[in-house]
Amino acid sequence: MKMLECPACNHKVNLKQAAATKKLNGIFILQCADCQQWSHENRKAAVVKNLGLILMITGSVIGYFQLGGIITGPLITFTGGLVAVATMFTVPRTIYTNA
Ligand SMILES: [Zn+2]
Repeated sequence: MKMLECPACNHKVNLKQAAATKKLNGIFILQCADCQQWSHENRKAAVVKNLGLILMITGSVIGYFQLGGIITGPLITFTGGLVAVATMFTVPRTIYTNA
């Protein structure tokens, strides 16, 4: 889960495990508990991940009402989930330097 790893030492960083957090322009910047490096989500990756999550929600709603047949909803949900997970696994966090 690259988006949850410190880009400097690969230590896990998230809201629970961060040494410190701050919010700047709507994004959370977390400090690594291991090497004290500040980092945040890659912004483009965050957008793509959110799109995937929106697709998942849309797919569930479509699936719930079975719009467009039985397969359409689950297919959209699956695609959205795949996009979100692939983004989290492949895109590394960005090092924040002006801490
Ligand atoms: Zn670190």
